[in-house]
Amino acid sequence: MSPAARFSSRKVMASVSNAVSLKPGLFLRRPESSALGLTPRRASIGLGCFRRSYVAAAFANENREFVIVGGGNAAGYAAWTFVEHGMADGRLCIVSKEAHAPYERPALTKGYLFPLDKKPARLPGFHTCVGSGGERQTAEWYKEKGIEMFYEDPVTSIDIDKQTLTTDSGKLLKYGALIIATGCTASRLPEKIGGNLTGVHYIRDVGDANSLISSWEKAKKLVVVGGGYIGMEVAAAAVAWKLDTTIIFPENHLLQRLFTPSLAQRYEEFYQDRGVKFMKGASVKHLEAGSDGRVCSVKLEDGSTIEADTIVVGIGAKPAVGPFERVGLNALAGGIQVDGQFRTKIPGIFAIGDVAAFPLKMYDRIARVEHVDHARRSAQHCAKSILSSQTHIYDYLPYFYSRVFEYEGSPRKLWWQFFGDNVGEAIEVGSFDPKIATFWVDSGKLKGVLLESGNPEEFQLLPKLARSQPTVNITKLRNASSVEEALEIVQKSLMAEAAE
Ligand SMILES: Cc1cc2nc3c(=O)[nH]c(=O)nc-3n(C[C@H](O)[C@H](O)[C@H](O)COP(=O)(O)OP(=O)(O)OC[C@H]3O[C@@H](n4cnc5c(N)ncnc54)[C@H](O)[C@@H]3O)c2cc1C
Repeated sequence: MSPAARFSSRKVMASVSNAVSLKPGLFLRRPESSALGLTPRRASIGLGCFRRSYVAAAFANENREFVIVGGGNAAGYAAWTFVEHGMADGRLCIVSKEAHAPYERPALTKGYLFPLDKKPARLPGFHTCVGSGGERQTAEWYKEKGIEMFYEDPVTSIDIDKQTLTTDSGKLLKYGALIIATGCTASRLPEKIGGNLTGVHYIRDVGDANSLISSWEKAKKLVVVGGGYIGMEVAAAAVAWKLDTTIIFPENHLLQRLFTPSLAQRYEEFYQDRGVKFMKGASVKHLEAGSDGRVCSVKLEDGSTIEADTIVVGIGAKPAVGPFERVGLNALAGGIQVDGQFRTKIPGIFAIGDVAAFPLKMYDRIARVEHVDHARRSAQHCAKSILSSQTHIYDYLPYFYSRVFEYEGSPRKLWWQFFGDNVGEAIEVGSFDPKIATFWVDSGKLKGVLLESGNPEEFQLLPKLARSQPTVNITKLRNASSVEEALEIVQKSLMAEAAE
């Protein structure tokens, strides 16, 4: 910014009371009603009048107006929202640990792991925001939009008082407003039990997925540790690679946190029919290495041994809060505590996506949600709150999904979606072949619904049901003879309540 422009902007902002300094020459009102207290008019006073000269300065010096730390799913969607608001060009900077522009991370255990002759997904095919019908934001897209990107240079420390970040390569970046979007890191088996042996894989980024594919090109016997959705997706892909695959997990059935025992049984049978073996109620004692130093077997706590040349560990993830602990963590949910507009307790610092512990308004609790739909929506909500007069608080409806066996030539693809809360009595309808649904009913109200192999209209109904929580006739629902009939019953309840 030229000295004249800086002077005039300070003069203008000096008349704004209750102002908070975000960076030299940029003052905004305190965050009372909107996230940074910007109304559109204030924004034009605060930002617009010196935009041109300021933009040039932002690229030339070390001051950035808006900085996003983390270059994943949430960062990509936030960047899109900045562009939509005309606030990216020369103002936004993204600091990423990865070598690639933000991409739709769920692809890594889905299309990315297809065998090489079955058209696997590869970048740039799945950069954000293609997953929700947006533009494919390649590295060139960020350049064209004037968004400064730092790749492979993670932030290592923050000075909250000086509003600066230091990166691994030693860059010192001054920020005006900061959005933390660092996601999660995959939980690992401890090194002392073999968690770092060659042939043991974790999957969080493209580099991890590439290294797994290289292993699979030579692999014969695979053990997947973990019966969550990552384990299920990896095992499904391994079937296409014709690997001898065993899934081991300590719980009684697959996806214990969501599936009922009987629903899990359907999926387990489906996998077993395709040659996948299960070791349930089993915990890893240690991983053993052969003479070449590569993993060769898994020793279980019960003393049994499973041979394996490749292991994939999918045992959950931890919020990547370092180096931002001082911003304020939530002890129960883990992650960085934010309010309904993704504001942390430090003015001008926000957190979104997997790393944010936010108020889940519908269920009146603090939650961290490690799913892509929340990453996208939280990013858009936070950016809109910062850049516009939006003041309403985030009201998220939990939504999870998975898709497996989608590769070319697979006789059947599986695709489930879940909306809401899995509390109360679970009522299962359908035979799985061709589809199945589970309805969770609590105190007569429909709280959650999972549907496998629905059609688009049926899937579209699910969020409406879970959001409205209609009172349902539980006897009728229990007696429904097909998924279609059950959906009709709950849809009628929904429509009847809407008409009241
Ligand atoms: C393999 C896999 C499959 C998945 N499948 C599904 C699915 O089917 N359905 C679903 O709903 N969800 C799925 N998810 C979850 C979903 O991808 C995440 O919820 C989503 O990516 C979260 O977005 P985010 O931006 O918060 O974090 P991420 O997308 O993880 O991005 C965080 C980024 O921050 C970077 N970072 C971390 N620390 C720093 C630092 N200090 N400095 C700079 N950068 C840093 C990371 O390297 C990463 O690039 C899957 C996740 C994985 C790993």
